[in-house]
Amino acid sequence: MKKRGYSVIFSFVIGLAVFCTAASSFAQNEPQRVIEHIAGDVYRANNNNHNTAFMVTPDGIILGDPINTAFSEWLKEELQTRFDLPVRYVIYSHNHWDHASGGAVFADTAKFVGHRNMLDYLAMPADSTTLADVIGQYAPIAALDSNGDGYVDRNEVGENIPELQFTAFDANNDRMLSGAEIARGPLAFVQAPTITYTDQIEIRLGEKRAVATWVGEMNHTFDMSRITFPDDQVMFVVDYITFDRLPFREMDFENGMYPEWMAAIRDTEELSKNYDYVTAGHGPLGNSAAIAELRIYFEQLESAVASAIADGQSLQQMRASIEIPDYADWSGYNWLDENVLGMYHFLTD
Ligand SMILES: [Zn+2]
Repeated sequence: MKKRGYSVIFSFVIGLAVFCTAASSFAQNEPQRVIEHIAGDVYRANNNNHNTAFMVTPDGIILGDPINTAFSEWLKEELQTRFDLPVRYVIYSHNHWDHASGGAVFADTAKFVGHRNMLDYLAMPADSTTLADVIGQYAPIAALDSNGDGYVDRNEVGENIPELQFTAFDANNDRMLSGAEIARGPLAFVQAPTITYTDQIEIRLGEKRAVATWVGEMNHTFDMSRITFPDDQVMFVVDYITFDRLPFREMDFENGMYPEWMAAIRDTEELSKNYDYVTAGHGPLGNSAAIAELRIYFEQLESAVASAIADGQSLQQMRASIEIPDYADWSGYNWLDENVLGMYHFLTD
């Protein structure tokens, strides 16, 4: 049990380190950022490991995820220089901090659009939420309250969380994290959507369309929007589909809902056949075939784990033995043993 807690916090901190490099203009290594044209008036913009997409119209710009504050500041200047147009809409893929932060940079000109369920994630849990109530990925942070006063303060956190991330948890800015603040997650830099929808919403600007469609309840989150730019044949998908990269580590197996996740992937693969391009929140520009490759990865992983279970292998044995050679060149292939763990739980919990 103890060991598992340790491994969770370890992977969390690694994730934060990646975020920090990507997010912060204070970071010593300058983040890599680039804007690429996809088709028609649609572009993708990249910040290290994270991508977003935007469409330029004569009446302004419709942007997908703002990613983070430093990136958004950079992007705002780039858009001004290249197009001399303001961002009129920000359409969120989902609430997660590493995609949805930074929107405030565009608040002077933009409206913010997200699925209705996004508001539930952004709402602060009740004040009565204690550190002991924090379960899941942030439980290791709640466990840092070494003086037992019911709050995790900056000194107790030490080097475990970078300053930028601490402030993202610290919604009321009092330098102490309550159970409610930790349970909510590092969402302080996420500007709440002012326009929400339930099934689908079409945004029209400059006679062009952006459409957000709810992906449904599934493993990754319940507020996921698939964003399409139908006039230019581009689809933008985040996190439930990634390209040339294994699914993230243990695949949030505690959330279950693997069949719903696979259904969302299959559904999106089918719909993407009507689009020339699919750009994902992580990975290179792709298309319907790239979604198929991810789907086939899952099928191979599921069948490898199912056979190992049928052969009576222990979890430890299958984590050590399973290889999926077709995908050895994907990034995150070193997460395969964690993917095996996640799939084992999906199939047996
Ligand atoms: Zn996410």
